[in-house]
Amino acid sequence: MSSPSTALQALRTGFGRTAEVETRFPAPTSLDFARDERRSTIPTPYDVIILGAGAAGLMCALTAGQRGRRVLLLDHLDRVGAKILISGGGRCNFTNLDGGLADRYLSANPHFAKSALGRYTPADFIAMVDAHGIAWHEKTLGQLFCDGSAKQIIAMLEDECSRGGVETRLLTRVTSVSHTDGLFRVETPHGTEQSQALVIATGGPSIPKMGATGFAYDVARQFGLKVVEPRPALVPLTLGAEDRLFESLSGVSLDVVASLGKARFREAALFTHRGLSGPAILQISSYWRHGDSLSVDLLPGDDARMLLTDAKRARPNAEPRTILRERFPDRLADVLADRLGLSGPLVTHKDAALATAGARLNSWTFTPNGSEGFAKAEVTIGGVSTDGLDQRSLVAKRVPGLHFIGEAVDVTGWLGGYNFQWAWASGRAAGEAI
Ligand SMILES: Cc1cc2nc3c(=O)[nH]c(=O)nc-3n(C[C@H](O)[C@H](O)[C@H](O)COP(=O)(O)OP(=O)(O)OC[C@H]3O[C@@H](n4cnc5c(N)ncnc54)[C@H](O)[C@@H]3O)c2cc1C
Repeated sequence: MSSPSTALQALRTGFGRTAEVETRFPAPTSLDFARDERRSTIPTPYDVIILGAGAAGLMCALTAGQRGRRVLLLDHLDRVGAKILISGGGRCNFTNLDGGLADRYLSANPHFAKSALGRYTPADFIAMVDAHGIAWHEKTLGQLFCDGSAKQIIAMLEDECSRGGVETRLLTRVTSVSHTDGLFRVETPHGTEQSQALVIATGGPSIPKMGATGFAYDVARQFGLKVVEPRPALVPLTLGAEDRLFESLSGVSLDVVASLGKARFREAALFTHRGLSGPAILQISSYWRHGDSLSVDLLPGDDARMLLTDAKRARPNAEPRTILRERFPDRLADVLADRLGLSGPLVTHKDAALATAGARLNSWTFTPNGSEGFAKAEVTIGGVSTDGLDQRSLVAKRVPGLHFIGEAVDVTGWLGGYNFQWAWASGRAAGEAI
């Protein structure tokens, strides 16, 4: 018998095909296809249909399947786990050692995620990774990556789905869902499927070219749930005409502290041809709204006022840009000296002027004019409001059997493995409740 992943591979025929492809784990037999024929006329209800075979949907499917539930997992792409595959530069930052801390997640209800995160922790996911012999390492700040490839995480989840007898159907566009006579009905171009429970794991609209949609929000509204305004998050920010000088710095990166309100991140920032990126900026973008200004400490841990005034005493004839070039990449030092109006030897500048310039270096104000939008956003902030969901099971309080999990929900993690941890934890919580 072919392995589950080989079976799946054999049925993959290329991105963008419109035909419907079905596979179950292990590979379908002629008997399965005969059963499928019958299902198109008299659908036997599944215990659960899960829409979206991303991180959350796969975890939910394997959990429910291994609990003996009859599970159908649907996705309109030609593969499962498309975002897992490209995550972490192809090595998947699959969790964070601090992934259980609810303060690493943004939500209109900051307490909502605690229940699921507390019951399925980073250690639980690491145990699964270890059981599959996948080597991993901590890169920085508790971020765990595969030594090899993100494909290993997908193969692991597929294998666990196989153990749970999960039936996966790819290239399957869901046209509508409804709830009648205690059953959920899921319409696809190839017929109707029915189930006792329905899990919406279709993520958010970030990176539409990868198949991302706002489908979860449509379903939520259809069933009377509120949707917190979805916004791009973990996204590069763009700068306006007044900061055009910084465009010449495209490719320059440096360690900074980026702050906005109480949010504060010490990581690298990167100048791009349109604005600002890098981990510190991506993190702060989740807190940013149009009109907000960021404070960026370009010399974290150093008092730049002292740096300039001390330099004036030690080397009065030195140019300020020479001093700045000792601390910053040359191109950045030159732009900063220009923006600060520091030309001519240090001795020609009053101490007060140098102190003001130094204070700006420790708290440079950028007022972005926008972001790169959903096309470049790693995640979506906002989503299905937690008000209408039960925090233990992620079920809609007023629609028994209807669950929302993963990025579709108004819970968004920091950069660094937190979003996958939420996907695993919320998927597990729903999978255990079905
Ligand atoms: C480039 C990139 C890198 C990332 N790197 C990391 C990382 O290293 N660590 C981390 O923690 N997070 C990372 N993330 C974020 C992480 O990928 C997401 O938070 C996570 O995938 C969300 O899981 P999900 O299952 O909720 O949604 P998704 O993974 O988005 O899965 C949703 C699934 O639903 C399917 N779908 C959507 N609409 C429909 C529809 N109408 N019908 C049928 N199927 C549908 C989609 O095809 C998709 O397969 C990254 C994101 C991106 C874009």
